[in-house]
Amino acid sequence: MNEDHHVNQIEKTEKRLCSNKKSNQMKPPRASRRQLLKVAASAAAGIMFPCLNLRAQQAKERLIVILSMDGLDPRYLEKSDVPNLRRLMKEGIFLTVKGVMPSVTNVNNASIVTASFPQSHGITSNYYYDPKTGNEYYMESSDFVLKPTLFEKAQKKGYRTAFLTAKEKLLRLLNKGTDIGISAQNPPAEWIARIGKKESMYSAEVNYWLFRAFHWTLRNSDSNLIYVATTDYMMHTYAPEDEPSQIHLHTLDEMIGRAVNEYPHMELYMTADHGMNAKTEAIDLNKVFKTANMDALAVPIIKDRHVVHHKNMGGASYIYLKRKEQLDETLSLLKALKGVDKAYTKEEAVKQFHLHQERIGDIFVLGDIHVAFGFLKEEREEISIRSHGSLFEAEVPLLAYGTKHKISDFKYNLDIGRRLEL
Ligand SMILES: [Zn+2]
Repeated sequence: MNEDHHVNQIEKTEKRLCSNKKSNQMKPPRASRRQLLKVAASAAAGIMFPCLNLRAQQAKERLIVILSMDGLDPRYLEKSDVPNLRRLMKEGIFLTVKGVMPSVTNVNNASIVTASFPQSHGITSNYYYDPKTGNEYYMESSDFVLKPTLFEKAQKKGYRTAFLTAKEKLLRLLNKGTDIGISAQNPPAEWIARIGKKESMYSAEVNYWLFRAFHWTLRNSDSNLIYVATTDYMMHTYAPEDEPSQIHLHTLDEMIGRAVNEYPHMELYMTADHGMNAKTEAIDLNKVFKTANMDALAVPIIKDRHVVHHKNMGGASYIYLKRKEQLDETLSLLKALKGVDKAYTKEEAVKQFHLHQERIGDIFVLGDIHVAFGFLKEEREEISIRSHGSLFEAEVPLLAYGTKHKISDFKYNLDIGRRLEL
């Protein structure tokens, strides 16, 4: 909240300084209509406004790349052979930062792309339940996003923007303001001709396709704000030390290294939307409520169309009470439930995690490190999956290379968006 306020203040001051200059210089003496039109045309081209000129110039000279590595838990970097990234970490800055809660893809990418918390941008889940209508939706339309994207902001300042994502759902959610917007899941024919055949979403190759599209964009377009968002199928499927994961990250490392070597003036930011943990126990909260005679509905936060990844089981859930008077009782039940890490009232959750109060349930519940919530045959089942959503997956790596930033500039992954100074 305070940080948001601070950033807003900076933006306001900047606008004021620029508009002061504008008003000083935009006082043509009485002039003919033709002269006035000329002045207006110069102004439109930015000739009259030093601020605009400077910004436009900066926009042309900068090449900003943001890599949002889906599910890149810090342990994947620690345990992988990634020589290029190691060099960039050493020469730039590298740290572990907080991700946004709940630790799922849509929430965190929306936070980075809008440089704000869910309280402002409104994306609180992969999946949205509207208690007023009882309807449920995948949160994958840009209509849900309440704040402008970095792309929209950058376009206004003369940047050419590209959003390259593995998952189609992210493209639909965050594509406002993009000059180029494609997903590897559903690439247009012209991109298949350029990059190669479409790859399966359940493969490492889909991320390689995406990085080849990134290379193509660097070399063949004038894009200078490029956001690349991978998919986490490999992290859902393999632990950091597993060979397929090692090959996957080593290959991506080579592709990142090649891009930086070809474009050494690149400002590169890399972070993750969430971490990843092995989950061995699943709890069906709706069955727990039924047994306890509570009139409540547990809505999974992770739920999306990539069921193979996580079987719609994740470490967080929103609880909607049908009878509000059962709040204390339900909260106590959850807090005492084995496998529950934390349970917050709506108000507590809004305050603690900067969530949007109209888009979460009456209770926000988080699982222990090894626990996932989902729909099961029994109340509790043993499982063997890798998933996320809880506080235990809310620590992510952050790399900034080719920038003037300090480690202290970054506390959250979304600070990348806030520090860009477009
Ligand atoms: Zn993700």
